[in-house]
Amino acid sequence: MNKILVWFHRFVVFLLLTRVSSLPHIDDGHVDSDAARILDQEQSGDHQIHCSRERSRIAWKIVQEYLTPFVEKEKYNISRRCRLHPDNDIYRDQEQHKSHIDINEWQCGYCKKTFYEEKHLDQHFDNRHSNLLNLKESRCLADVCGALHCDHEINSGSKKSKCNPAAAARNKHICETIADSCFPVNEGPAASRLHEFFLHQFCDAHSCTGRGKPFSRGRRKKTNVFYIVASIFLVMLLVLFYLYMYLYQRGLKKESQMLRRVSQAGRKKKPS
Ligand SMILES: [Zn+2]
Repeated sequence: MNKILVWFHRFVVFLLLTRVSSLPHIDDGHVDSDAARILDQEQSGDHQIHCSRERSRIAWKIVQEYLTPFVEKEKYNISRRCRLHPDNDIYRDQEQHKSHIDINEWQCGYCKKTFYEEKHLDQHFDNRHSNLLNLKESRCLADVCGALHCDHEINSGSKKSKCNPAAAARNKHICETIADSCFPVNEGPAASRLHEFFLHQFCDAHSCTGRGKPFSRGRRKKTNVFYIVASIFLVMLLVLFYLYMYLYQRGLKKESQMLRRVSQAGRKKKPS
């Protein structure tokens, strides 16, 4: 009887162990890894950050698309006094530690943990790596979102919201302050050209007359590698299809000719 009990106990333990080890380590959208589990034991920071990560990201994207190409063209270095300098975005370091490996795979560059969605990785950054944010020196990039037309970028294509003259005036003022601090006109011809450019690109549109449009000076021109590869692939597929059709038709013709010859030969042979 004791032996049976011992064996039963072993069997239950074995079942439990295999069950636990076969379960995937998935919770709130992330796939666990060994490195991550070690990190889970560490204490998370208790920072309260009042700066929108999403809006900071949009502001950064706008700067990258509508300003940086023109600044690079002038070979101008933005100083740290400028609010658009990368060091003035508290999320910059975290955002640079994001890798989008696959459609449904986002990886944390600090601990290599992977997630299904970007928002889960954002949550992970907030929970686990908020101690890495440079909160003393950095400023919130989302604060200049109004001046940079973040809402226009978010709602592009949809109906325009009502214009508030007071808000437009406030945003114009912030916009001009950014132009002054980032591209001081007394710092040479490149700075003055960029100052002028910035006013046209971002500040002119802050009015309710509806004349000036944001980003009137254009954006970074990029060739989409994906589309090039896809079109080459399509052309190759078409060529292969037509080649196959051609060979198939030729094969059919040959076959019918052969059949005709065979039947003709058969008819000739019959009388003899
Ligand atoms: Zn991490």
